[in-house]
Amino acid sequence: MPIESPYPMISIEKALDIVTTHIQPLPSVTLPFYEAQGYVLAEDIRAAEPMPPFAASSVDGYAVVAGDGPGRRRIVGDQAAGYMAGVEIEPGTSVRVTTGAPVPLGADAVVMVEETEVAGDYVEILATTIQSGSNIRPVGQDIEQGQLVLPRGTVIGPAEMGLLGTVGQSQVMVYRRPRVAIMSTGDEIVEPDQPLAPGQIRDANRFTLMGAVREAGGEPVDLGIVRDKAGSLADTIDRGLVEADVLLTSGGVSMGQLDLVKPYLASRGTLYFGRVNTKPGKPVTFAVVDSVPCFAMPGFPVSALVSFEIFVRPALLKMAGQPHIYRPREKAILAQRLSHTSARTEFQRVVLTRRVDGRLVASTTGFQGSGRLLSMAGANGLVILPHGQADYEIGATVEALIIGQILSETDANSAPIRGV
Ligand code: AMP
Ligand code: MG
Repeated sequence: MPIESPYPMISIEKALDIVTTHIQPLPSVTLPFYEAQGYVLAEDIRAAEPMPPFAASSVDGYAVVAGDGPGRRRIVGDQAAGYMAGVEIEPGTSVRVTTGAPVPLGADAVVMVEETEVAGDYVEILATTIQSGSNIRPVGQDIEQGQLVLPRGTVIGPAEMGLLGTVGQSQVMVYRRPRVAIMSTGDEIVEPDQPLAPGQIRDANRFTLMGAVREAGGEPVDLGIVRDKAGSLADTIDRGLVEADVLLTSGGVSMGQLDLVKPYLASRGTLYFGRVNTKPGKPVTFAVVDSVPCFAMPGFPVSALVSFEIFVRPALLKMAGQPHIYRPREKAILAQRLSHTSARTEFQRVVLTRRVDGRLVASTTGFQGSGRLLSMAGANGLVILPHGQADYEIGATVEALIIGQILSETDANSAPIRGV
């Protein structure tokens, strides 16, 4: 009799449903706004004041009464940016102003310095027509008083950082980013700075997973390498549960005698699934222990990283309050025939290129072995080969998850802008 896994095989869709229903955004924290880049806002940000807060000149020039038209004006004062000079103008006069200066009382237009000529105490307006309001940014032109500037759920990037500064929001409420404890398991795994004794290999998974966690906006907590011993596994898993919001393990979830991760998670909490109809990553496991979501990934490096992409990344993004948690998908044309067994849904690693006609072409990264991390290096897409069909022919259209920047067949991706 073949030995059967005790865990029922479930679909990817079902597995994702289970994961996302057990994961909620983390509580919010208050941060100085200048540390908030990359976080997601947990509050609405409104402007207490209008922007600009006063009518401001948008050029260096001369504030005038537009109705005076072109011609000579007496210069009655200066108004630079940053204070109120208190100068007023009346018909026939003007005030020298700088960009960002408050428009002096009585003026309703500013003539840019390039359209003037100064002679002593007088300025000659060369512009033939002057529109009332020209070169003046009225109060609230950019932001109205009380306006909702950044709604809750906004991801804070460079423009948002500046807006928080503009509205004086020195502290912001954001969703906490998940702390993610990561451990590798296996008696054969050693640190990268170690020479290899017979039977040993160096750790890859802790480093791919720490990188993937950082890229997803999480904070990795390194739990090191753990031997395939029940006691050390239990101790390290327990430490991760205390120190982090999410626990990631790799290795030790297959059918071997020393595959102890699943039984331990099941004994400590609720194991929701232990087998998914996916390749790579079939033994990927999800449990919740002491309210901490735990993902046990297979040991093969590609399996670990692809499982992260499919199941863990959306979970981390949801915890961080991100509005969009899934990778974009798009149809792609296969540049080669891909061999595939119809039993499982497979994620093959490809390089996606944008053709001149706008369509995506998927080129394989080569041998798709679960241990061959080189099949993932440089891949910007995972083509989804659904179960139920065998090999996919060259030219077939399949759906691809976009996991990196797509280059186009033309050189538009890295060429300087020319001819405009
Ligand atoms: P396991 O899931 O523990 O049965 O491991 C499956 C395969 O992945 C084995 O060939 C392991 O040696 C390999 N493996 C497990 N963990 C790692 C790791 N952290 N880095 C690189 N290879 C690993
Ligand atoms: Mg192992």
